[in-house]
Amino acid sequence: MDRRQGLKLLTGALSLAALAPARAFAQTPAPAGPFKLPALGYANDALEPHIDATTMMIHHDKHHAAYVANANGLVAKWPELATTPIETVLADLSKVPEAVRAGVRNNVGGHWNHTFFWELMTPGGPKEPTGELKSAIDAMGGLPGVSEKVNAAGMSRFGSGWAWLVVKGGKLDVISTANQDTPLETGAKPVLGVDVWEHAYYLKYQNRRADYLKGWWNTVNWDKAGANFKKATG
Ligand code: MN
Repeated sequence: MDRRQGLKLLTGALSLAALAPARAFAQTPAPAGPFKLPALGYANDALEPHIDATTMMIHHDKHHAAYVANANGLVAKWPELATTPIETVLADLSKVPEAVRAGVRNNVGGHWNHTFFWELMTPGGPKEPTGELKSAIDAMGGLPGVSEKVNAAGMSRFGSGWAWLVVKGGKLDVISTANQDTPLETGAKPVLGVDVWEHAYYLKYQNRRADYLKGWWNTVNWDKAGANFKKATG
């Protein structure tokens, strides 16, 4: 081997070594199972400056991936989880065998909540509600007041959870849920929801949950929220 060949080999080995950790980090091993980690639909940095790229990457590739992996792990203990529609499972957790109920609540709930959340954000689109959702929000006092109520629900959620704008009994309402509980089990249909777990904001905002919530409204996909409203009232 001459010097040039040796150098080429060395360069190849170095670039492989550089590549290996990146690949390992980007690809979370996916255990066989019915639940899949959905793609974000936009780049990790697409929601900057409101949500930073590192938070998005860890939140999606690590936290959400863990809920998916754990949910798939539960199928071995309760095979019906693979064949029952996810919203049916989450709407009535009393039908879930007690041995796996907490796991289903946390991990299948976490998977559902985060899938909803990624779709509810976008770097583009209208910056405020339109159509029927706008009318309903206006009837509730307008967007500034409604977003303030959602933020208050997020601020008063002690520890980890979510704040939601939902349709319940045909009317808009604001609720919050603990941990990875979904609005589905309360009979509510979510229009929009915001993750107030520290993992959703801590790298950029640290203890300033109020600032995160304020910034988060700039990321809302109002087309998706409008579609959620239509589905909830249809
Ligand atoms: Mn989260």
